[in-house]
Order: sequence, then structure tokens, then C-alpha cells
Amino acid sequence: MTTPKLRLSLVLLISSATLLYAGRLQSSPEISGGIFHLKPQRPVEELRAEALRSTPPIELGQFRKPDLVELVKVDPTIRLDIRYATDQNFLGTPMYSQARAFLQRPAAEALVRANQKLHAEGYGVVIHDAYRPWYVTKMFWDATPDDKKIFVADPASGSKHNRGCAIDLSIYDLRTGRELSMPSVYDEMTPRSFAEYPGGTAEERQHRATLRGAMEAEGFTIYPNEWWHYDYKDWKEYPIMNVRFEDLGGGQGGIRVNKTQHAVQ
Ligand SMILES: [Zn+2]
Repeated sequence: MTTPKLRLSLVLLISSATLLYAGRLQSSPEISGGIFHLKPQRPVEELRAEALRSTPPIELGQFRKPDLVELVKVDPTIRLDIRYATDQNFLGTPMYSQARAFLQRPAAEALVRANQKLHAEGYGVVIHDAYRPWYVTKMFWDATPDDKKIFVADPASGSKHNRGCAIDLSIYDLRTGRELSMPSVYDEMTPRSFAEYPGGTAEERQHRATLRGAMEAEGFTIYPNEWWHYDYKDWKEYPIMNVRFEDLGGGQGGIRVNKTQHAVQ
């Protein structure tokens, strides 16, 4: 049992600790050039080889047939900044050999609507990541120390990115072309990335709210630990996939994945 006074003290203690932690990281060597860096637990190439040899979890149940759509083909105004196709990401080395972004068709259509609404306000979406093959999720998990694992998905249950129903994104100003500032940088593994983080500037929090308003209106839910991550409401309907971008065909307007390429149905 705790008294209200004790509870209040605990809340204050935790809040102060969180702010101190965030404040300490403001000038942290973990962030340079707008990129958060992590020292992987093991060499990335070792993690990659092991992840490619591994198999996604077997899921029982009925799933919709995957229908991944390449986002720029359904809306050419969608801007891409696929950090995992470059070394500008938290592991400092490319995960993808192609800078592409895919979502299951209903999620892609919802994103297009959100983008169109943002256009009316003078903004556009910029995509950092969307569908992600399962083995990359495993690499992220194995590379990340335990105290930061709240920012990565457990490969034992898979990520909603693996189902083609999660997206990492921000917004940019249509007039200047510049990405808007947010309370943290993308993929930053600190409390500043929390969806409800009360710090940062009022302008940064307003930018975060603008993105959230547009996404929530179209069936996306924000991940509480990351302002940039949104899950589409139908995610349970789709299986975990482990198809690399190179193995996804390039159809006009949409992509149908060859059934034999599914690691898991
Ligand atoms: Zn994400």
C-alpha cells in the first residue's frame, strides 16, 4: 500500500530522473549530425548473417493475402528519406540495398489521405521506414542493449513493420522543403522520443501534434515510445513477412508478393 503523499513523491522522483536523463543526453555523444548512434552489442555483419539464417515465428490463424504497395507509386508527392538504406541510422551502416517504402494497400491508401490533408495545411509527409523484412527486426533487437529495448520490437513476436502495417515518418514544410523540428531526432533512444514527452519547444510539440492529428484521423495509432512510429488499425490481419525489397516485384500502382516468397503465411 502507498499513501497519496508517497505516490506523489515517487512521481516527482521519476519525473525528475527522466528530465535529468533527457537533459544529460541533450549534448550526448550518441547524437551527431542529427543521427542517434548506438554501439551494437555484436558486429553488424555477424548479426546480419545470423538473422538471415533465422526463421520468423510460426503464426497460426487466417491472414489476408499480402498486397504491398510502393508508396511513391500511389502518391508521387510522398517524400522518402529511408535512413536504413544509408549509413545515417542508429547502427551507422545500411540495412537495405534499396531506398524503397511499402505498406499493405489499405494502410497505403490511408497514408495518402493523411498526406493530402497535410498538404492543405502546407506540409507533406517524409517517410523513414515502412514495411521491414523480419530479419532486420531481429538484427535491431540483437544489436540493442537491454536498457534500450523498449525502442525495438522483439523478433519472437515480430514488428508491425514486418506486417506492412507500421510506418516511421515525419513532416516537412512544402514551402521551404525543410523537415520540421521535433522534440527528438528520429530513432533516438531516449525519453525525448516519447509521444507524450513534455519537453522540447512549444513549436516542436506543435509539429508532433500536427503529424499525430493527421495520422490518427486515418486509422493510425501512435506508438507511445516513439513520436514517429504509427501502426495501422488492420495490422493483425496481415502475416509477418521476411521478403527483401530486392525480391518484391515492381508493378504499376501496387505490388503482389509471390506466394512462394513468404517466409510465413
Ligand atoms: Zn517504427
